[in-house]
Amino acid sequence: MDLLEYQGKQFFATYDIPVSEGEAVTTVEDAVAAADRIGYPVVVKAQVHVGGRGKAGGVKLAANTAEAREHAEFILGLDIKGHIVKTVWIESASDIAEEYYASFTLDRAAKKHLGMLSAEGGVEIESVAETNPDAIAKIWIDPVDGLSEETARSWVEAANLNPAANDGAVDILLKLYRAYTEGDCDLCEINPLILKPTGEVHALDAKVTFDGNAEFRHEGWDVIDATQIRDEREQAAHDKGLQYVGLDGSVGVIANGAGLAMSTVDIVNQVGGSPANFLDIGGGANAEVMAGALEVINNDPNVKSIFINIFGGITKGDEVANGIVTALGRVQIDAPIVIRIDGTNAEQGRAILAEHASDKLQSKSTMIEAAKTAVELAK
Ligand code: GDP
Ligand code: MN
Repeated sequence: MDLLEYQGKQFFATYDIPVSEGEAVTTVEDAVAAADRIGYPVVVKAQVHVGGRGKAGGVKLAANTAEAREHAEFILGLDIKGHIVKTVWIESASDIAEEYYASFTLDRAAKKHLGMLSAEGGVEIESVAETNPDAIAKIWIDPVDGLSEETARSWVEAANLNPAANDGAVDILLKLYRAYTEGDCDLCEINPLILKPTGEVHALDAKVTFDGNAEFRHEGWDVIDATQIRDEREQAAHDKGLQYVGLDGSVGVIANGAGLAMSTVDIVNQVGGSPANFLDIGGGANAEVMAGALEVINNDPNVKSIFINIFGGITKGDEVANGIVTALGRVQIDAPIVIRIDGTNAEQGRAILAEHASDKLQSKSTMIEAAKTAVELAK
């Protein structure tokens, strides 16, 4: 779950990370009122789930009421990389001496947290990584050991910030690491992390991603969840509690288990097709779940064929087949369906499907055959 900048800053503030005072508003009048309350100069900042807002004209300094109005009028409704600005965050403007970059993210390959710190902040870290990789000081943190003050200090020293920023940076990075780990984040990024002329270090931007799998233990995440941008298909799947990721191909994919669903996406590609989605219906592939999955896939106008790939384990092949038949009785499906059932009671499952076979519904005994047929039908 991606947080908007202001949500990220409010999250940072709960860990005592210094951020600017501000207000999130959705109208020009409210923006002006907020700016007047906060006191000038202020920054008017577009709240969208993409970076590079500054370059796109979505971050502007206002010295007085008239400028606050002008910028709010410009930014509200602005299209930034396809995201229309509906909310602006008005915050007290900061004086900047230097701009740095700081982040924590998970390095899955290393099975450790990765901290990155650079004296070259304010620009996209990807371009720093490309043009001047030595300018990024990296540390890998074992989650069991955590980040000690000593380690944080030598990391900060390796990043060659202005020495005046070192104490403040160590303090913020320790707090940010706590926020990142205790907060169940996939990413906590501050770009720019600024050194003020007065010597304070301060988070001027916030990019935070929560790990959606931890939603059950964070009551406050409902609010964040409500502001997530999902495409229509993803929203429908989310409402039905399905694990769905929208892709842009033409073969709708339904499988039981995330691993099999990923393999199904792969095999569709391998035989020259392109999957329209990833969809894992989980272990209990009953009629209810199958009907929901078929509905979501059916509503995708790009889908030209549907590949249902089931491996019977605890869920038996005949139950799944009955589930599919019942689901088809409930949902009017437009695209032809190819089914592969293997595993426990596969024979019985295939026999049930054979009774209902038509040009809209066929069963294949191997994954590769089924994939080829589905891809052929999608052409
Ligand atoms: P992004 O472009 O989406 O990453 O948005 P940021 O929040 O990082 O802002 C972009 C740039 O605007 C920063 O790198 C700063 O140079 C500038 N900026 C943002 N807030 C302030 C501020 O309070 N004062 C000043 N002087 N510049 C700011
Ligand atoms: Mn930024």
